[in-house]
Order: sequence, then C-alpha cells, then structure tokens
Amino acid sequence: MAILAANWKLHKTTEDAVSWARAVKASPLARRCEVIVLPGFLQIPAVARELHGSQIALGAQDVFWEESGAYTGMVAPTQLRDAGCAYALVAHSERRRLAGDDDRGANARIRAALACGLTPIYCVGEDEKERSTGRFREALVGQYDVGFEGLSAQEARRVIVAYEPIWAIGSGQPANPAQAAEIAGAIRDGVFARTGLESGLRILYGGSVAPENVAGYLGDTAMDGVLVGTASLDPSEFLAMLEAVVDDG
Ligand code: PEP
Repeated sequence: MAILAANWKLHKTTEDAVSWARAVKASPLARRCEVIVLPGFLQIPAVARELHGSQIALGAQDVFWEESGAYTGMVAPTQLRDAGCAYALVAHSERRRLAGDDDRGANARIRAALACGLTPIYCVGEDEKERSTGRFREALVGQYDVGFEGLSAQEARRVIVAYEPIWAIGSGQPANPAQAAEIAGAIRDGVFARTGLESGLRILYGGSVAPENVAGYLGDTAMDGVLVGTASLDPSEFLAMLEAVVDDG
C-alpha cells in the first residue's frame, strides 16, 4: 500500500485539525493507503482521540534525542508515543533552515526514535544551487551517510526516508518522477553500503505533490509513497490524492 503522509507544518487550530481527521477517516479510501498525519504538537492529542480505532496513523513534525533533562522546548520520543504517535519527521528542510537541525542531530534523533519504537521519517534533499551545479548527488550522500551512521540493517529497515528537494518544496515545481527515482536508487545503494540493508528501505517523495501529479510517483516507480505539505491541508484535496493513488492501483 502506498504511504501518504500529510505534513501540516504550522497550520490548523485544534478544531480544524479534528475536522480534517473526521473527514478523512470517514472515507473508505483511507483504508486503501497508509495515511500518516503530522499535526503541530499541540494538536496531536485531539487528533489522536479523533483517529482512535481508525487506520490513520499519527506522527510529529520533530522529535528530540533525549528522553528527559534540561532541554527547554524539546519533545521526547516517549512523550510522542504517550500522545499516540507512531512516526516522527526528522530534519525537515524547514527545521534545518530555521532551527539548525543537521545530519548529526538527525542521526541522534533517528536512533532515539527507533529505541522508543517510533518510526523516523528522515528528510533529505538538495537545494537549488546544488541541483543547478550538478552537485546534488554529493550533497545527498553526506545527508544519508551521516543520518544512517551506526545503524544495523534491521534498524535501517525501520527508517523511512523522504527525498524532498528543497527547490521543489512549496514551489509548485516538483521534481519529475524520473529525477525522484534516480535519487531513490542512490539512497538505497548508499544505505546498503552503510548498513548492509539490501532491500526493504521505504522512500517517499516530497515537494509540490498534488492530486494532478501524485500518481506519477507511485505505481511502478522506486517510491513507496509521498510526503505532502500544502496539498494535504484541505481534506478534499487530500482525499483527491488518495483517490488518484488508489485508482492507480
Ligand atoms: C513538505 O514540506 O514536506 C512538502 C513536501 O511541502 P509541499 O507539499 O507544500 O511542497
């Protein structure tokens, strides 16, 4: 089943969040894909209550690597589990830019999330300059090489990678499916070299995914699903994406 992950970023009141959850869980399409919703931290408990008993999974937009201590403002893996999360984004490019998240911190977050039974969704992607100068492959190697450092093949299999070229996020200019598939292949090879994981690594594409283009990333391509920002906010647009993916087989 294709994974469709909805990253709400800094959007939605609790009321809006609950009404999205109510609308999406009511659709039979939501049972034919793996839907993961990633609300803001404060909306997680209310969305968890609304989704209780449904097949829609819940995640957070970040996770810290320590379980407790003098870390003002951080949220621990166990706190997320307690609140009903099964997933956590790690090192989204907006957090890399705004909050200083980096590959080393991502590695610590991935290990802490795995240790607590959360599935990390590790975001990697090159910027516009790296793409236009042809240095994007090298830029990405650094990200997944450090991110997966010290992980066994069994641990690596529990990580989801989201390939999100920064130039494609929120720009209306998605990477095309062939570009995404090329990078997915390189990531699989790199993670195999680093951890020995031969197969089973799940990779999502993210960056300006919409109902019109979502099917192109799935089906026969190398991707296991998509991570969607803008087009995930309106429940009817999100359901249109589910429909496109389910229709696609
Ligand atoms: C994202 O931020 O993860 C994302 C993919 O955003 P958008 O779909 O808006 O490009």
